[in-house]
Amino acid sequence: MTDENKPLNRDTLIAQGLGWMEPEHKSLAPGIYPATTYEREGNGSYPSGRIYSRPDNPNYEQPEQLLKTLEGGSDALLFSSGMSAGVAVVQALKSGDHMVIPRVMYWGLRAWMLSFAKDWGIEITTVPNGDLAALEKAVIPGKTKLLWMETPANPTWEVDDIAVWAAVAKKTGARLAVDNTVATPLLTNPLKLGADIVMHSATKYLNGHSDVLAGALITATEDDFWDRIITNRRTNGTVMGPFEAWLLLRGMRTLHLRVERACSSAMAIARHFDGAKGIRAVLYPGLESHPGHDIAAKQMSGGFSGMLSLCINGGEEAAMAVAARLNIFKRATSLGGIESLVEHRASIEGEGTPCPKDLLRLSVGIENVDDLIADIEQALEGRNS
Ligand code: PLP
Repeated sequence: MTDENKPLNRDTLIAQGLGWMEPEHKSLAPGIYPATTYEREGNGSYPSGRIYSRPDNPNYEQPEQLLKTLEGGSDALLFSSGMSAGVAVVQALKSGDHMVIPRVMYWGLRAWMLSFAKDWGIEITTVPNGDLAALEKAVIPGKTKLLWMETPANPTWEVDDIAVWAAVAKKTGARLAVDNTVATPLLTNPLKLGADIVMHSATKYLNGHSDVLAGALITATEDDFWDRIITNRRTNGTVMGPFEAWLLLRGMRTLHLRVERACSSAMAIARHFDGAKGIRAVLYPGLESHPGHDIAAKQMSGGFSGMLSLCINGGEEAAMAVAARLNIFKRATSLGGIESLVEHRASIEGEGTPCPKDLLRLSVGIENVDDLIADIEQALEGRNS
């Protein structure tokens, strides 16, 4: 017998998508609601509570509620991509506001911030990851309205202390937004560490099957800033299609299993190649030698993510050659899917990248870890060349 007062374990909530049942047919999987518009009564009211699908759609509700629960927030919103979720946070600022971003973060969003957001009058200071003194110097009380952070930071996996950044934000009167894509809500809950907003590229681990583009924001408080974000999504129409939202929920229902496997395999790969011939450095916060290991161990639980990078002896050319020889790891951008991927990030990010040229980023999937290690070994040895 189950004790009805005992809260369900997180894994049970994920597996059952909070246990929601489609009310009319009692189906275990929700329906898909493609309608863009809803009937209005003769008296002018909307009995369903819905008007039009740019503001919302029934297919958003279950994944939004699940994300809200997993992150411990008070509200959540799905977006058409991780980028549109991140952009919505910055667009909630006002011209003349100042924000602080780290040197290493998802390059696409950083590039947008430093071009479009700057052009629209948002002032931005970039600080080196892990440099608390630089952060404290960068903030301008009364003017700094947003601190943006990503930890572990893609693709060098530097680690920043969320609680410390949250304290700086609070002292300055700014909000802290954290891109939690890589850690997922299973390993880190930034809101519980004092952050105000969490962002996900749900395209990655949350969906997990490399077949949906999606983003999400979760807020600690439903304040004016959050209202501006809701209005932004409604007016810009950066919403998911109902089928994509349905697929996202289906993917999320195995999140815990996929993340557990990816973390344990990434750790095994990191340990295996740390100090190995042909490798200049293994970048993975799970290694005790990683400069951010202690902070990561404090704010992450259950693993250090499925992402790591290998820096290859011999520079860019050697790194490209290793990537070309990999068979199981697919050469493709993105991360967090069931299949393992490799990417030479510097050549993707282009000029101005903080990413070393000899770095190969690995997204570890759920394949057999011995096969993955053997694939990297043969690529390093050049056996198939
Ligand atoms: N944040 C991180 C850490 C990412 O890796 C990405 C995409 O690679 C994004 C945000 C942007 O997400 P999307 O591609 O879903 O727009």
